[in-house]
Amino acid sequence: MQTIILLGAPGAGKGTLAEGVRQATGFIHVSTGDMLRAAIKEERSTGLEARAFMEAGELVPDDLILRIVRERLAQGQPSDCYMFDGFPRTIEQARGLDATLAELQAQVNQVFLLEVPTEVIVSRLSGRRICKSCGAVYHVTNIPSKVEGVCDQCGGTLYQRPDDSEETVLNRLEVYQRQTASLIEFYESKGVLVRVNAGTTPQAATAELLSKLASA
Ligand code: AMP
Repeated sequence: MQTIILLGAPGAGKGTLAEGVRQATGFIHVSTGDMLRAAIKEERSTGLEARAFMEAGELVPDDLILRIVRERLAQGQPSDCYMFDGFPRTIEQARGLDATLAELQAQVNQVFLLEVPTEVIVSRLSGRRICKSCGAVYHVTNIPSKVEGVCDQCGGTLYQRPDDSEETVLNRLEVYQRQTASLIEFYESKGVLVRVNAGTTPQAATAELLSKLASA
């Protein structure tokens, strides 16, 4: 089993890059944010537990997150390659992941830190639009759909995530600095951190990530 992590502030482009990496490599994309949003949509108990935290832009408790990740890994095969997006977000989650992977005779192989200037992040998040049906990600000016409000891939309706409103975005960035940024040092000290310039285009950032993945 191989495991990589995409680490970076909200709006760094984790979801967009994950899609490019998945297509190029076959790594299985595991986004805890997507899993929680699906649980809310399907009115499952994890969704009900997580909802209020997500709407406020706060982190969902570590035990709930570790539970859904363990459940996901338990469904896999030993030969699977995983790419985590938006997980781990705290040192506690990182330690929980290490323990779970150790049980599976695996470890975190590489952590890609997506570096983006803050002003770019705020503009990206406030302009982000997502397809209700297939989850494809657009941006009103950077990656517009051909027809406004309609997904190019499936014709679904595009919407703005409730936590992409300006006030919640600022809180999410603050939460990242307070609770997640310490993971940079955590993984740097383990010798697995790889920096990627994600402030350019999705194509350039994906190419840089793939070349650094291939050279590992
Ligand atoms: P994301 O789609 O990764 O931006 O996540 C959206 C929201 O889901 C976050 O603002 C958190 O409320 C919650 N969330 C997703 N992943 C995690 C995680 N690993 N730990 C805690 N909360 C999370």
